[in-house]
Amino acid sequence: MNIITSVSEMQQKMISARSAGQTISLVPTMGFLHQGHLSLLEEGRKRCDVLVLSIFVNPTQFGQGEDFDDYPRDLKQDSQFAEEMGVDIIFAPENSQMYPQKYATYVDVEGITDCLCGASRPGHFRGVCTVVSKLFNIIQPHSAVFGNKDFQQLAVIKRMTCDLNMPVEIIGLPIYREADGLAMSSRNVYLNNDQRQQALVLSQSLARARKLVASGESDCAVIISNLKKDINQKAEARIDYIQICHQLTLEDQTDVDADSVLLLAVYIGKTRLIDNGFLVTNHD
Ligand code: AMP
Repeated sequence: MNIITSVSEMQQKMISARSAGQTISLVPTMGFLHQGHLSLLEEGRKRCDVLVLSIFVNPTQFGQGEDFDDYPRDLKQDSQFAEEMGVDIIFAPENSQMYPQKYATYVDVEGITDCLCGASRPGHFRGVCTVVSKLFNIIQPHSAVFGNKDFQQLAVIKRMTCDLNMPVEIIGLPIYREADGLAMSSRNVYLNNDQRQQALVLSQSLARARKLVASGESDCAVIISNLKKDINQKAEARIDYIQICHQLTLEDQTDVDADSVLLLAVYIGKTRLIDNGFLVTNHD
């Protein structure tokens, strides 16, 4: 396995691989890998000759006062996991490689970036779309694997690749959870024991919403108000948003149907956690 930090070296390697007729799959991450990331690598491995894992804590997708500096990093541990998963190349560029002086170009997807995390984190998706476009240009993968954990991000990336005619297949995989239901996230390390326990309120809300729907409740406002009551009882929890949206447009719904996705962002202490899931089909 190679670790490459230079954009031009990465580009050369990928051009050679393509000319040799090899297929390339990319799993873009910010590192500090957990089992959720590994499930994406496992899928990527099946789909290509050359599996690339990118690890880059992208400064342009963090807002002021967010956790860019504190974001957990452990390239040594990540490399061991990557090796075990059969990754061929880790692309781990420095900021100066991705955003050299005079850098001035950004990718903006309109509409579906205005709501949910886009509303709470202005500029976040501009940063995401810019870095993912750059990774696609540098690596030119045939496929790229993302997690449903970041449901809106996946929808935005699908929109971007379609709108900009990017020749890459976007694959979305289910949320990988801890045994007690907490969605795996690199940010879970920020939680102390008490907060870790209270963080279960996200996945429990999803389960509660599904139960309400199964028992015949279809009014989104009623479901959301029930969940808000439960979450507000947790001392460490502060709701950023709870919404029931159409899976494709991400527009709020009034009544639950087969396209309904519950999306939540809740601060547990200072840590902002997200979760989501379909309400009728019962899968992540
Ligand atoms: P991140 O390193 O947090 O930027 O995530 C990199 C990729 O891993 C994104 O496509 C995420 O959606 C995906 N991911 C993060 N957590 C999980 C999880 N628990 N299950 C599945 N995929 C995940």
